Amino acid sequence: MDLFQKCHDYTDAREARSAGYYPYFQPIEASEDTEVWIRGQKLIMIGSNNYLGLTHHPKILEAAESAARTYGSGCTGSRFLNGTLDMHEKLEADLAEFTQQEASLVFSTGYQANLGCISCLVGRGEYVVADKLDHASIMDGSLMALGNVLRFKHNDLDDLDQTLSGINPERGKLVAVDGVFSMEGDIIDLPGVLKVAQKHDARVLVDDAHSLGVLGETGAGTTEHFGLQKETDMVMGTFSKSFASVGGFIAGSEVVIDYMKHHSRPLIFSASMPPYVVATVQAALEIIRSEPDRRARLWKNTHKMLDGFKSMGYDIGPAETPIIPIVIGDRMATFGLWRGLFDAGIFTNPVVSPAVPESLCRLRTSYMASHSDDQLDYVLDTTKKVGKKLGLI
Ligand code: PMP
Repeated sequence: MDLFQKCHDYTDAREARSAGYYPYFQPIEASEDTEVWIRGQKLIMIGSNNYLGLTHHPKILEAAESAARTYGSGCTGSRFLNGTLDMHEKLEADLAEFTQQEASLVFSTGYQANLGCISCLVGRGEYVVADKLDHASIMDGSLMALGNVLRFKHNDLDDLDQTLSGINPERGKLVAVDGVFSMEGDIIDLPGVLKVAQKHDARVLVDDAHSLGVLGETGAGTTEHFGLQKETDMVMGTFSKSFASVGGFIAGSEVVIDYMKHHSRPLIFSASMPPYVVATVQAALEIIRSEPDRRARLWKNTHKMLDGFKSMGYDIGPAETPIIPIVIGDRMATFGLWRGLFDAGIFTNPVVSPAVPESLCRLRTSYMASHSDDQLDYVLDTTKKVGKKLGLI
């Protein structure tokens, strides 16, 4: 059998393209914060993770330019060897302070941060216990680890308790949860998770990819939202969302971060974050701290959209954050709504199996501090019109 036969047999994408319903890899030609251009068409972007609208902030763009001039275009090596800059260390110290942990370690992507943290900590005979709706990077990190993986029902503390009860108490255990779930937009019951984990002597990792800059009084994420910074063992964050850049980090105790620095393969065997990227994240962190109004605007926009979709009769599941899924169910109906909105100048993301169960296909929409009322009203009116035309509401 030819290795490539599976590629020839894979026809889904080709069929969708020829039917005009292929929504992925849309090439954006230009972007202005809340608006993007694709094949000459202007669209309102409600499919990004740019929650605070910082991708075009002048201070961030200036920081990138200045760092490239000082340090060059890349580090050409791993953090472990020639790829550590004083800027990486400054950013790590500031992120530790922001999340109220002792230390932190930055990785070149958020995906690598989860891979690097879980795979180096969970050894043979030990366990990762993950929420069923956790991000793929938690699952992939668990598969890369030499230990075992168990999953508990989404946000279900009884199931978490039962799952942990089934593990030999002598074994090391890591409970890994998303702070805000990326396809549902709901928040983990962190107080409950910590209580159950403590009962079983398990450590806890919270993936705050969608919570940093969004939740908590200073934007420090889920642990701040619940006032549980000190009780949480490790916080993971990414720079590809509110921080408007790319990269990620793990924050935790000094001793754990030092162990990770010397054992985490995705850190050691991959080149470090380039200087201009580190500079954008440092600048974004300063803006997150100094411009709290952005978070207030984000939440005003979020409540407008949560109320708007609910009152039209759309199913938005347990959403309570700027991530608002419109759950349609059927795959083709989901693509139909995506297409109707795209043609009307609105960019969304259709999410189908295997990312979500086949019967729970959805459009993932997400909102920014910088969306105007006019833009959001247009999105609501259009989603209502297209949904009615397609018989979805
Ligand atoms: N965790 C969660 C919950 C995410 O949603 C994502 C990205 N979608 C990641 C981790 C990975 O982050 P990155 O894009 O920085 O690799």
